[in-house]
Amino acid sequence: MKKHFERPIITRLQTGMPNKIGMKTEYLPMTEIDGVGVKTMLEQYGSPLYVVSEATIRDTYREAYQSFSTRYPKVQFAWSYKTNYMDAVCRVYHSEGSWAEVVSGFEYEKALRNGVDPKYILFNGPDKTEQDLKLAIENESLIHIDHFDEFYSIIRLCEHTTKRPKVAIRVNMDTGIYPQWTRFGFNYENGEAWDALNRIMISGKIDLMGLHAHIGTYIMTANAYRIAGSKLADLAANVKKKFNKTVSYIDFGGGFASKNTLKGAYLPGSDTTPSFDEYADAITSSIINSQIAPEDMPTIVLETGRALVDDAGYIAGTVLANKRQPDASRTLIIDVGVNLLFTSFWYDHKITPAQEFSHHSEQTKIYGPLCMNIDVIREYADLPPLKKGDHFVISRIGAYNMTQWMQFITYRPKIVMIDTKGQTHVIRENENIDIMTQLERVPEHLK
Ligand SMILES: *Cc1c(COP(=O)(O)O)cnc(C)c1O
Repeated sequence: MKKHFERPIITRLQTGMPNKIGMKTEYLPMTEIDGVGVKTMLEQYGSPLYVVSEATIRDTYREAYQSFSTRYPKVQFAWSYKTNYMDAVCRVYHSEGSWAEVVSGFEYEKALRNGVDPKYILFNGPDKTEQDLKLAIENESLIHIDHFDEFYSIIRLCEHTTKRPKVAIRVNMDTGIYPQWTRFGFNYENGEAWDALNRIMISGKIDLMGLHAHIGTYIMTANAYRIAGSKLADLAANVKKKFNKTVSYIDFGGGFASKNTLKGAYLPGSDTTPSFDEYADAITSSIINSQIAPEDMPTIVLETGRALVDDAGYIAGTVLANKRQPDASRTLIIDVGVNLLFTSFWYDHKITPAQEFSHHSEQTKIYGPLCMNIDVIREYADLPPLKKGDHFVISRIGAYNMTQWMQFITYRPKIVMIDTKGQTHVIRENENIDIMTQLERVPEHLK
């Protein structure tokens, strides 16, 4: 019988030296998160598993808050629900003093249920239904108007209520960041924002509370906020001059970059992302040095999402298989797919073995478990050998993955939170066949 032939492969092993792409990814295994064993958690709660660190949320929040509060007397954070709206996560932010920032009726309901005083809910976004607006007006929530049609809806709704709606306008502008997000709010440069402010003031029915901008996301230069601040302050000063009306807050939105590394970036995000201090310098000085009089200094509101929560989220999982491609390159199949890690489309997420490993490494392409060609977690990672059943941890995934995930092919897994005493709590159950089919209906004739 003819012997089976296997083509010999020579692969170059990296032994901790930098290569032309950079340094080896991993030097130490990540066996624990906040002192809790990764393997133990996967055995107890199943694989894959999202893990949220309450301590990291609180530490990061306090660091960010302090950067602003040491530079400016009146600072208020509002938690951006869409970044991570797990109730447990939102409640940690609220317990730290954060208001809620919501962009839909659904998120608004979630904030109410989380016990947020409706006066401290900022309602953003282009999609507020008449029902949403009515409720927000009755509750005296802060409505950030996105477009003129919304403004006219609010004026109409005034006829049926004794309440005076409390509003801000969202302003978009050129801050040197391109493409500009001109689709949201009223433009500064063409005078639309000033027009909206005049109409609000002339209406006599609405209370202008603030000015709002959210200039984009993952903004890598703090100076963009300085430009935004001076334009918003200019509007506030003009409102004061013309109408003798003091704007009580200026909301800078979110958009601070997290320490994740964008695909194609040469240096890791942890080396290039501005610090909270740098953002705070730019933002606070833009208001302090503006034409706004000292007695009229507005509260600075921040809706930062990504930069506050990314580091607090992990997803742990298990290696399903190793494979050699026909070109001899190494691939790894893991039980975390792009359906659970939406941000892998734009970040090179850090993936760390969760057990001891040997000290050579090899270029590895990492696939998720889906039957879909796009299911690639890393195009290129320098990883030590991992075998079937080994575990790993993917870090800095707290932002957007637990809200933008897709239900596709597999069930979504549990989410656990590790509290500040090292206790684990399930904060969202895994899906199962009953949950997945409970909204489906089969017509009689197909039963
Ligand atoms: C998404 C969003 C945020 C949070 O943005 P990050 O980039 O996560 O900081 C804040 N405000 C508004 C209006 C948003 O749409």
